[in-house]
Amino acid sequence: MKKVSFAAVLALFCFCVSGFSQSGGGVSNTYKIGSIDFIAIKDTDTNMGKNILTKPNSEVVKRVMPDNQNPSSINAFVVKTSSKTILIDAGVGAGGNLIKNLAAAGISPDKVDIILITHMHGDHIGGLISPDNKKVFPAADVYVAAPEIGYWAGNISANVGNTNLAKAVRAVYGNKFKTFEWGENVTPEIKSVKAQGHTPGHTVFDISSGEEKLTVIADLIHSLKVQTADPSISVTFDVDPLQAVDTRKRILREASKNKTRVAGMHIPFPGVGTVTETDNGGYFFNPALK
Ligand SMILES: [Zn+2]
Repeated sequence: MKKVSFAAVLALFCFCVSGFSQSGGGVSNTYKIGSIDFIAIKDTDTNMGKNILTKPNSEVVKRVMPDNQNPSSINAFVVKTSSKTILIDAGVGAGGNLIKNLAAAGISPDKVDIILITHMHGDHIGGLISPDNKKVFPAADVYVAAPEIGYWAGNISANVGNTNLAKAVRAVYGNKFKTFEWGENVTPEIKSVKAQGHTPGHTVFDISSGEEKLTVIADLIHSLKVQTADPSISVTFDVDPLQAVDTRKRILREASKNKTRVAGMHIPFPGVGTVTETDNGGYFFNPALK
């Protein structure tokens, strides 16, 4: 596997990662949601240290991350229904392994019908276009929440690289680049849910089939150890860290109460499990079995 260059990611995406490591293990895992296949695909492993956190020197960080090791991943997820192949987020692009690992799961980019984007940071949309600005997924319609598109259409001086990438993706996909409003079902099985804070259009997706449900929680968690122990800790690159706290607490509480599985883009691969609320307002993460 190729390693993602730390400098490249930092420069392009303002994604403040302290270093990268690759670990062993699989590259795709398939789960069932009713009659749907839900497939976790690893793009790459990362190790974001404590300096991404808004309270890096807090007692909870000292307790749960004393070695400053914060193993995480960049994950994408595929929903396969009887008629459609739907990709949720497209990974980092150059330096990532999404296409190779989709192939290992038997999925070719030209067979992806729909791509749902949780938000337009580079580690989620970088994989949509090739280095020479071509579509990586030629047949796909790409859907993004309307407020997210509005945000990146502005000139965000603090994150010029990401702004340019967001604009390039829109231009390359042209009329295949589409919007949804929060609360809409973007497919019959997948409902979009407002989850602002990390970015103004950050979205989570509720996937349902029969009696079963799973919520893709996107970037509500960048440090599984710290942010489950204390959900009031955000990351420095949340656009609105306080709003991100409210959103994280709301969605984790609902998932715990309803015993809904969650899947996170930066929870260590495969990133799928359930959360159980603890007495002190934190959560315990239980990795899902298939
Ligand atoms: Zn991310």
